[in-house]
Amino acid sequence: MVRKAVVIPGDGIGPEITEAVFSVLEAAKAGIEWIPCKAGLAALADGDDVLPEITLEEIRRHGIALKGPCTTPVGEGFASVNVQLRKALVLYAAVRPVRNLPGVKTRFDGVDLVIIRENTEGLYSGIENEVTPGVVTSMKVATEKGCDRIARWAFRYATRRQREKITVFHKANIMKLTDGLFLRKAEEVHKNEYPNIAYETEIIDAGCMHLVQDPTQFDILLLENLYGDVVSDLCAGLVGGLGIVPGANYGDDTAIFEAVHGSAPDIAGKNIANPLALLMSAVMMLNYLAESEDNQGAATAAELIRQAYDLALRDGQKTRDLGGTLSTDEFAKAVIERL
Ligand code: NAD
Repeated sequence: MVRKAVVIPGDGIGPEITEAVFSVLEAAKAGIEWIPCKAGLAALADGDDVLPEITLEEIRRHGIALKGPCTTPVGEGFASVNVQLRKALVLYAAVRPVRNLPGVKTRFDGVDLVIIRENTEGLYSGIENEVTPGVVTSMKVATEKGCDRIARWAFRYATRRQREKITVFHKANIMKLTDGLFLRKAEEVHKNEYPNIAYETEIIDAGCMHLVQDPTQFDILLLENLYGDVVSDLCAGLVGGLGIVPGANYGDDTAIFEAVHGSAPDIAGKNIANPLALLMSAVMMLNYLAESEDNQGAATAAELIRQAYDLALRDGQKTRDLGGTLSTDEFAKAVIERL
């Protein structure tokens, strides 16, 4: 069975890691026919909008996309493609599983965290104003609807995946209305519908200290948009860096799979980027097809690829960010040889 999926290679290291992922999925006979679409600098270079309407249409039509990172200029220029995509397609739940991988030794063993980040509100609403010259503001938005749907999503996910505990990091002591609402909705959903799942809250500064002291004490972290963004990279650092943390952005009927890392302009075009985070994101996509469409071929390919990259890492086959010497292509080849 062949399933069509949109692919956005993205900017910087995006095209090279996407090629590596294509080669592994093809070798694993994952049964994906890619529909290439543009976004970000690549779309601008073609004289298009940063997020062309045709890209949005294709994602809506096929329901899933694999996306490479897109560059967003700092301080000026166009609005983030990622934020626009998530808002336009209402991909309100970002999920980032953070786990130790075999052969990647870090300070902690036994890290098995899932970060669930609200993806459409908070300080990423893009509402900024110049009140008067020299005074600018940025508006943090929280809605009952947004807070309620992400809380429900997190508890449903915990139930499906047989997870035991959800911890909310917040700053409701200072941001009483916005973070207060986020917290209240999570507490309501826990009390009224999922009392069987343990529930904790922590003020985010103390929570970050506890994370770096012992990340194994956490199971699922539920966070609003900005906190989720920051804590995702912090947690990536706990297990070996951005090269190995995948991600998915879910809406009610659309999902985009992408690594947590960005376009890494410092190493772009050198064939040294680690393609593993995007490959793991592609495995999340295959597992999503297996669960939501009962696609057995996708399930088999996902398991084969996971075993192959675990084996490659165990055999010391690693890119430079993990202390190895392999190029992007060579790592993909090492995975393919172990399928
Ligand atoms: P980054 O994640 O691109 O890079 C941070 C550091 O991690 C760099 O030193 C980089 O070389 C390294 N790194 C990242 N991915 C790697 C990989 N696969 N293999 C090896 N090393 C890797 O973050 P940044 O430099 O802050 O951002 C660069 C651009 O990416 C910015 O324009 C930013 O807006 C964008 N960005 C996009 C996304 C996305 O599209 N989802 C996410 C984050 C950042």
